[in-house]
Parts: sequence; C-alpha cells; structure tokens
Amino acid sequence: LSTDVLVIGSGMAGLTFALDVADPLHVLLVTKKARAESNTNWAKGGIAAALGPDDSPELHVADTLAVGGGLCRVEAVELLAREGPERVRELMARGAAFDLEGGALSLGREGGHSRRRIARTGDHTGRTVEAALLDAVARSPYIRVVEDHLAIDLTVDEGAGGRHCTGALVLEHHAGELVHIEAAAVVLATGGCGQVYRHTTNPAIATGDGIAMAYRAGARVGNMEFIQFHPTALYPTEDPAFLISEALRGEGAVLRRMDGTPFMDDYDPRGSLAPRDVVARAIDRELKRTGDPHVVLDTSPIPPEVLEQRFPDAVAGCRARGCEPTEGIPVVPAAHYVCGGVFTDNDARTTLPGLWAAGEVACTGVHGANRLASNSLVEAVVFAHRGALAVREELSAGRDDTALGEDGGRARGGLPEEGAESAAAGAGRSAAPSTAPESPEGEREARIAETRARLRASMWDLVG
Ligand SMILES: Cc1cc2nc3c(=O)[nH]c(=O)nc-3n(C[C@H](O)[C@H](O)[C@H](O)COP(=O)(O)OP(=O)(O)OC[C@H]3O[C@@H](n4cnc5c(N)ncnc54)[C@H](O)[C@@H]3O)c2cc1C
Repeated sequence: LSTDVLVIGSGMAGLTFALDVADPLHVLLVTKKARAESNTNWAKGGIAAALGPDDSPELHVADTLAVGGGLCRVEAVELLAREGPERVRELMARGAAFDLEGGALSLGREGGHSRRRIARTGDHTGRTVEAALLDAVARSPYIRVVEDHLAIDLTVDEGAGGRHCTGALVLEHHAGELVHIEAAAVVLATGGCGQVYRHTTNPAIATGDGIAMAYRAGARVGNMEFIQFHPTALYPTEDPAFLISEALRGEGAVLRRMDGTPFMDDYDPRGSLAPRDVVARAIDRELKRTGDPHVVLDTSPIPPEVLEQRFPDAVAGCRARGCEPTEGIPVVPAAHYVCGGVFTDNDARTTLPGLWAAGEVACTGVHGANRLASNSLVEAVVFAHRGALAVREELSAGRDDTALGEDGGRARGGLPEEGAESAAAGAGRSAAPSTAPESPEGEREARIAETRARLRASMWDLVG
C-alpha cells in the first residue's frame, strides 16, 4: 500500500494533522483500536490558551516557563502561547462546543496558571474535542481511517539524500497479518506511555509505541526521565486510575491529610493550587511519612450545585465507585504524562527525514521538566497544525529523499478499498511474530501479562 501521508494514531494530534494536511494530499490514518480510544478522549480539565480579557500570551509563556524547571525551549513555548488562541477558535469552528458564560468562553483556572485560561466542556473536554475532530475527519474525502491496525515498526531506507523514513509495518489485529504501508510522510501521533507504570491515569492504548518505534528507527528521543504524576487519582486506583481534575482545586477544593489537617501550605505558598509536580511530591511525602493509604480532597469550599454542574464526570465517577464527592474524595498520585519523547523542531519534524511527530509522543521542548496543566491538548493542536503546513510545503516542493510507493506515485484519486490491506499482506508478508506456532495462545498471553506486570511494578517502585 502507499499513500501521501500516513498518520499513526487517532487522538487530537493525529486527527488535527490529518485534517490540516489533507486535500489535495491523501491521508491514511491507522489506529490500533477503535478510533476514539485515545488519551485525548479521557482529557478532563480542558485546553489552555490566553483567551481572557486580563490574559496575554506573555503571561501564558511566563507560567509555562515557571513550571518547566528551567528546561523549557522558550521558542516553542512562545509559539504555543501565541498560536494557541487561534487553534482553540478553530476547534470551536470544527464543532467543539466549549462552555460559554454570557456569550463568552467560560474559562477555568488550574494549578500553576496565573489567570483563568482553560477552555473546557464541563469536565469531559477531551470527549468533546475527540468527537468534533472525528466528525470533521469523517466528512473529508481525503482521509481514510483504519481501526484495529497496530503500527509495530517504521521502515527506513538509505536514499540519495541519506537515511529517511519510508513508511511503517502495521499489524492487522484480527487476522494477525502484517502490512507494509509506504508514504511520502509518516506522522507519529501515538500518544504517551503511562501504561508502563503500575498506577496510571492513562488508558490501555498508552504504551509508548511511537517513542519505541522512533528510537529503533534512529530518530532522537529524549527527556524521558520527565514523567508527570497527576496528584489526584481516585483511591483505590483502578487500571486506568480515575482522575479527579485539577480544576476542582481551581474552584477551591483543598487537600487534607486523613485526619483532616491541610498540608499543602507547608510545602508551597500557593497551597493546593501549586503546580502538579509540587503537589504530587507533597502527597507522596505525606503518605510515606504518615503511612496513610491516601489523602483527601475536601470539596466543601465548592457549593454542591457548582460541583454537580461544573464537574459532572467527577461526581458521577466517584458515586459509581461508592464515594460521595461532597464528603471528600480519597486521592493518590498516578503516572499521567510523558514530557519527553521524540525530539521535534517547531514544525513537528523529527531528526529522521520523512518522519514527523506531534502530540504527547513528541518532545517539542514546551514542557521542559514538567508540564503546566492543560498545556498538552494545546501543544498537540498547535504543533500538529504547524507540522501539517510544513508537510504540505515539503511535498509540494518535491523532496529528493521522498520515497513513494512501488506503484511509483501517491495513491491519489481514492485510497485502497476496504480489505485491501489483508490482500496485500497475504500476497507477500510473513505473519506477525506474535502468532508463533510453538507457543500456545493462552501460555503466550500469560507470559506477556506477567512480564508486563513486572515491568509496571519495577517502573513504579524504581523509576519516577
Ligand atoms: C485522564 C486524563 C486526563 C487528561 N486531562 C487533560 C486536560 O484536561 N488537558 C490537557 O491538556 N491534557 C490532558 N491530558 C493529557 C492529554 O489528554 C494527552 O496528552 C493528549 O490527549 C495526547 O494526545 P495525542 O493525540 O498525542 O495522543 P492520544 O490522544 O493518546 O492518541 C494516541 C493515538 O495513537 C494510537 N496508537 C498508539 N500506539 C499505536 C500504534 N502502535 N499503532 C497504531 N495506533 C497507535 C492510540 O490508539 C490513539 O488513537 C489528560 C490525560 C489523561 C489520561
């Protein structure tokens, strides 16, 4: 198979990239499960952009740098802050219905932000954004989305211009067939890696595949030591842990020990509204010091009707798990976000020609050592947009290292028919290694599950 642009992943970054690069370019978007399964779909608090009358990109830059531990790439932060508002307006034009108040956006406040600047839809912003983008993608005749296709490796060639990425090997889940998809541009939008930790807010898809593929292909990867732990996951944790949005603290909720005493003022003058690395470390220290299994998020400063109206997901999620949120929510930290990833420039270019990356898989330098709350969705949309424009420009200029399909051209005028992947795979590719005949399925699954559990335990105990 060949296409102009192969996008791997159907979260905010992949969908935005696809929409902004398509027409006249054709896009094949592969995703390993159902199309809405992504971290994006789980995002709660919202998307940060300097949209309020008392706000400015300069203030957004200052807040982002203050939280990033001195390791942010300033140019990338400035781009994010400057272009974020326009991208949020574009999202609204694409159908994302953010909350309004008196005709203007109702902006929330979160830890580390000096202004109210979080556009949101209740506490299920990600669902709204994902649905709007999927609808927009469905309307484009230039984009084809293929579910249940797991990218397992990138293909790399030594062309006249040096090493470059030519496509990806993709495994079709059900038949276990391997497909080689060639593309003039390959975009990693595979999200983060929270699932390598025992306790995480990330859904099952977040296994760091894109980072591993890029590393194996020789692209530069870095800052992987900067994993962000979200301070407030509902205790006891599930897999994934149920996240209690930072926005509750933005509205006045206060962290207390199990005995009812507040403790955040002992750690930071901003108290419960300190940035999340500070809060997560403080909770961890308190739990180790007291031996308590959790701390408590006291929601009593928020009027019950505001709690119900602003945080319907948190309220329903707590109640479904036997916790009455108005009486305080038991919380612990959980792995949440990877600040590092595949190094990219301001236009989503990786160090491997032909390979692009956007969203959580990428390391743009915006977050430095620690991400400011709600800066992830905006980073995904800003840099996916920039990357899409750059791919358009490169492909229309005709790169000399561009590798096209064996048919000698891009798959214009319609992508392959449904089922063509299986036919192509059957024609020449070997079956996936996961179907080795000497290993009975059940035993193999058990071994994988055991290895995975050991890895997650080691990461939790020793790394982070
Ligand atoms: C519970 C929760 C709440 C959050 N709240 C917020 C918030 O309020 N504000 C904010 O800014 N950020 C928030 N975040 C972080 C934010 O949601 C993510 O960083 C962001 O959505 C990442 O978008 P993405 O497009 O890069 O990746 P994702 O949305 O994770 O999408 C990755 C896609 O790649 C696919 N994929 C992965 N590997 C492969 C493979 N090998 N082959 C094919 N497909 C693959 C996945 O199936 C998925 O479709 C939250 C995260 C979580 C978990």
